Amino acid sequence: MVDAYEAVDRLRGGLIPVPATPQLGVCDFCRNGAGEGYTRCYQCNKSRQLEPPNVLPITMEVLGSLIHDHLRNYKDSKNELVRQWMGSRLAALLALFLDRHRSCVGDWDLVTCVPSVKRVALEPIVRSVPELARGYRQVLRERPGRPSHQPSVEHFAVTYPVSGKRVLLLDDTFTTGAALFSSTAAIRQEGGLVIGPVVIGRYVDPRWPPSEALLQWLCNETWQDDRCARCHGARPEGRLI
Ligand SMILES: [Zn+2]
Ligand SMILES: [Zn+2]
Repeated sequence: MVDAYEAVDRLRGGLIPVPATPQLGVCDFCRNGAGEGYTRCYQCNKSRQLEPPNVLPITMEVLGSLIHDHLRNYKDSKNELVRQWMGSRLAALLALFLDRHRSCVGDWDLVTCVPSVKRVALEPIVRSVPELARGYRQVLRERPGRPSHQPSVEHFAVTYPVSGKRVLLLDDTFTTGAALFSSTAAIRQEGGLVIGPVVIGRYVDPRWPPSEALLQWLCNETWQDDRCARCHGARPEGRLI
């Protein structure tokens, strides 16, 4: 764990705490701003027939932040060395988070990632974390030719038996949730229980007014490795729910 701490320390200044739920103004499912007085955001409300899972992000992510830079460049940088060292920091963050919050995440039988047509970019990172590598299986494949912007149980094919299994679902970035919600629905339809789902960054666009208010609050808070959204997530003083 000593190496993991050193690697995470390089990211720490760019990490933003994730708000706890339930609380007014925060979406119960995706942790984005829900608007004053609401506990479900517009996007998740549109997907409610799929019963979105309660997503567990490690950090909030905004454009221009250090973690945003890592989550883009670990897969897209033209420089292989940059991809490697950014990937190793993200692996360290994932390992540290799971070590600290294993009971918040829950137990699992299998580990898998949300795929895309081209590649599963997060897979090498997941495989580099010993606790995750043991149970890793590619469970989902994207069906070609289907639009990806709307979540659907049809979007992914389940290619590994998951019936009766607890499947830890991981992704690098959560933006609209379409891929994660579709993955969850497909696993559930085949009789699997989705654990997590854990995402590294919950991408938030500050131009969306409910997100702007949320970020104004969270960016003044300090991310701590012994707090997650399920145990001691950020909550303003005096707020009851
Ligand atoms: Zn939401
Ligand atoms: Zn926790």
